[in-house]
Amino acid sequence: MSAPLTILGTGMAGLGLVRQLRAHDPERAITLITADSGDDYSKPLLSTGFAKRLPPERLAQRSALDVADQLGVVVRTHTRVTAIDTQSRTLRLGPEALPYGELVVAIGAEPQPPMAIPLHLAARVFTINDLDDYRAFYSTLTSLGRPARVAIVGAGLVGCEFANDLAGGGHQVSMIAPETAPLVRLLPEPLGKALGEAMQDGGIELLLGRTLATLEDAGADVGLTLSDGHALEADLVLVATGLKPRIQLAAEAGIDVSEAGIHTDRYLRTSAPDVYALGDVACVDGVNAMYVQPLQASAKALAATLAGTLTRVSYGPWPVLVKTPLCPVVALPPTRPPAHWRIEGKGPDLTALAEDEDGRLIGFALTGACVRRKVELARAAPALLV
Ligand code: FAD
Repeated sequence: MSAPLTILGTGMAGLGLVRQLRAHDPERAITLITADSGDDYSKPLLSTGFAKRLPPERLAQRSALDVADQLGVVVRTHTRVTAIDTQSRTLRLGPEALPYGELVVAIGAEPQPPMAIPLHLAARVFTINDLDDYRAFYSTLTSLGRPARVAIVGAGLVGCEFANDLAGGGHQVSMIAPETAPLVRLLPEPLGKALGEAMQDGGIELLLGRTLATLEDAGADVGLTLSDGHALEADLVLVATGLKPRIQLAAEAGIDVSEAGIHTDRYLRTSAPDVYALGDVACVDGVNAMYVQPLQASAKALAATLAGTLTRVSYGPWPVLVKTPLCPVVALPPTRPPAHWRIEGKGPDLTALAEDEDGRLIGFALTGACVRRKVELARAAPALLV
């Protein structure tokens, strides 16, 4: 019997691909390998669960066992692939060697903490990047039996969403970041400031313009000192300082990678024969968007390719929707620096248009009531990958 199609990762990329593939080929032998519990869940919901007081079991749509049953696949959970040998087409899972026919690497991106978390604080300092992380954070948060003081380090998309969500759940949130406004990678400063004001009005303490200097044990609390000497204490710390594609496994296998991810062409093919990459780990023709719509388009194209019809992926002008109900945000960041930003509106309701030298729209950002313009502006903006 020939070796199965093997997919590393059961996130939205890995499972999305299997669902698409089953529409083409209900019989093909498929093995899925994942380092986590393998539960089927929607990662974007992780940063909306605390306001609704959703226990982890409400976020898991299906267990790994149900996934295996419904999709007719083998799922190996809590199993970490430690090496890929592209010559012998074999995976290493510690001491075990497992042959693959075709291989799809969909192992996502991992948190990038600004400093090593001291071991004795590991039970109170968290990152949340999968359902297992949510389980651990949720259990510690609820074990307090009262609203928690949570210090969030980082003011990007993940930090802002968790800040808004935890505040919505009645917790006391402080957000620490070196920038002068939240969401600098998505928003020009006036819009970031509008979001920051709405967050402060919603009870979130913003400690901007400074970095985390030290973390220490302060009895039942965690003590944080910031670069300007400011000190605070928290029950829990949530580190949300960005994600980087997990490139090490592919790099060690001699596959082309960069900090942006595993390089693929428009057919999701890596530099190694019969090895594909998908989702947050993949840099497709120079673009690693790291959000859901591009990975769904990629999964659809790759499923068709694996079923025998070589299919090129393209991405539309798909904006990112930031889940901060205190001040909704939609952004399609320009892929190159704009000649200027044209900013209109007042208070929290702002529109920012990124224009090139000829006045053409190359991106946009919207806050507050202006998010309703997203469809109209996306129609006029350039695609991410034509
Ligand atoms: P992951 O979901 O990270 O899956 C990676 C898989 O690989 C896991 O199963 C893991 O166990 C496995 N793995 C890793 N290493 C190994 C190994 N060595 N061996 C075996 N298995 C391994 N995007 C949006 O479009 N809209 C949103 O609103 C949105 N909200 C978000 C909110 C949060 C809090 C976060 C963190 C992200 C959000 N995103 C959002 C981004 C989106 O969720 C991701 O782009 C997407 O989920 C990535 O899916 P993935 O399958 O590529 O990676």
